[in-house]
Amino acid sequence: MADLEIRDLRVSVEGREILKGVSLDVSKGEVHAVMGPNGSGKSTLSQTLLGHPGYKVEGGRVRFKGQDILELTPDARSRLGLFLALQYPIVVPGITMNNFLRTALNAHRGYDGKDKSKSVSPKEFRTLVEPYLETLRIDRTFLSRYINEGFSGGEKKRAEILQMAVLQPEVAVLDETDSGLDIDSIKYVSEAINKMRGPELGVLMITHYTRILQFIKPDYVHVMVAGQVVESGGAEVADRLEREGYAQWGEEVA
Ligand code: ADP
Ligand code: MG
Repeated sequence: MADLEIRDLRVSVEGREILKGVSLDVSKGEVHAVMGPNGSGKSTLSQTLLGHPGYKVEGGRVRFKGQDILELTPDARSRLGLFLALQYPIVVPGITMNNFLRTALNAHRGYDGKDKSKSVSPKEFRTLVEPYLETLRIDRTFLSRYINEGFSGGEKKRAEILQMAVLQPEVAVLDETDSGLDIDSIKYVSEAINKMRGPELGVLMITHYTRILQFIKPDYVHVMVAGQVVESGGAEVADRLEREGYAQWGEEVA
């Protein structure tokens, strides 16, 4: 059984069916890329996995570590070890990165403000964050800024990956973490993800372009078109997409 098991998932948004029976298996130690043209339902998949209320599950199931998660709140899914990096990270005025990261980590540890032994110490926090600040080329002053406020596109995406590094999820869903990034940011983000890569982490990397796959070699590549996975294979699928694009699945998706 895979760590994350998606079976025949059907999802509608505002009454329109977007995902039309998606099945995918992601286990720790594996990197999967989900590629597809714009509007094929990639973000609908990521939002549904993390429990966005605007996405209505019409059928199918999602199990994470053997547990049905579709009824769980987003924070419960997160505490179970699922992580989502948003395609469009949001600005949260009034909450600093530092505060947010520590609070999120404490919540994961089950620290409720009482049992101090469960809280993350400043030293432990630094040990977790510092190597990734360096890899991601994030200046430490970012930690005292409000979440994403005034961050450039590339900085927001790098901040998402910093969250991932701190929370150490078992399965991470990265929704177009590469889109809108300049080549340097793509390199830093890839470097950080490659550093986290290993037997304890599964990655579902959603991307429109093959570019990031030159830096993060996927074990599996799936092609999503019009709400369905139309092809799955190894890295060679991405190589073919690089040459031929999505046109083979119809003019309208080219
Ligand atoms: P992708 O991420 O592959 O570009 P999306 O999942 O964002 O695709 O979108 C798939 C389809 O669902 C599109 O037709 C889009 O317009 C529609 N859609 C997605 N999210 C919403 C939403 N929140 N409100 C209305 N329509 C949506
Ligand atoms: Mg999208």
